[in-house]
Amino acid sequence: MILRDPITLVDSGPLTREAWEVLGAGLKGFGLAISDVKRVLLTHGHHDHYGLAEKVADASGAMLFGGRLDRKNFRQERSRKLLLHDMSRSGFGLVSRLAVVAAVAGVDHFAKPLENWDELSGGETLEGDDWSVVVRSTPGHTPGSLTFEIPEAGVLFTGDTVLKEITPNAVVDEDPEEPGHPFRSVTRYFETLDALDLSAGNATLLTGHGAPVLDWVAHRKTLDRRYGLRIGQIERELAKGPATVRDLVAAIFPRVKTLNVFLAYSEILGFLMYLVDAERVEKLVERTRDRYRLLPAA
Ligand SMILES: [Zn+2]
Repeated sequence: MILRDPITLVDSGPLTREAWEVLGAGLKGFGLAISDVKRVLLTHGHHDHYGLAEKVADASGAMLFGGRLDRKNFRQERSRKLLLHDMSRSGFGLVSRLAVVAAVAGVDHFAKPLENWDELSGGETLEGDDWSVVVRSTPGHTPGSLTFEIPEAGVLFTGDTVLKEITPNAVVDEDPEEPGHPFRSVTRYFETLDALDLSAGNATLLTGHGAPVLDWVAHRKTLDRRYGLRIGQIERELAKGPATVRDLVAAIFPRVKTLNVFLAYSEILGFLMYLVDAERVEKLVERTRDRYRLLPAA
């Protein structure tokens, strides 16, 4: 919440009665009400971040802003067909594919699809009364993820792009710039981390869940170590021979079910696309499925 004119909310929380009440109570603590909110900035198109935004706008007339490349997420237009097809090529049987599609659709009630909002691409500056918001495009967690910087306060709202306790995971999305293909989440995320090295410097990073990140340089080292471990796991499995995404999910996340299968699948596929981009892994396109082969180290 930015308690300066125009009163600005960064991410609304999910469409639940509890989130609505917590928001109202939080504003009341400052002598304000939901009807005082003039602007809602959305870091990305996940239910727990934009779910309540439309309701806040209905109650207050606030303007909504969100990333252009998350348009389909904000409208809840996920391509089930693409997911079913890609999971099939990844080696998942029909039963687990249908279970995943149902589980993914099962969270839709946590958000009201957006109707009217202003799309941001990154690079814009939104003016306030003696303060401003610099919008940065930080793709990876989702294609249209945005980070909002308040230079006057030395803070950056990072959404789920940077989290203190959790290593952000991207879910498989269609690439809005390459329809019909999955978004190369990990490749883009690593580019975003490099860009944050230039902009995050001494800023306080206000994260989408949990504690802020006060020391970006140290946090970046932690992230690199964690992602390095995951890459090592995948490469060790592939060293045993070519494998499908499903083979790798079974080896690395042996006990996951339904929605967690989707998260595990998303993570492994994201890393494989990154390893293909980095020319460390080759994708073997076979008749009914894709397998991935570790390339000999250069
Ligand atoms: Zn998210």
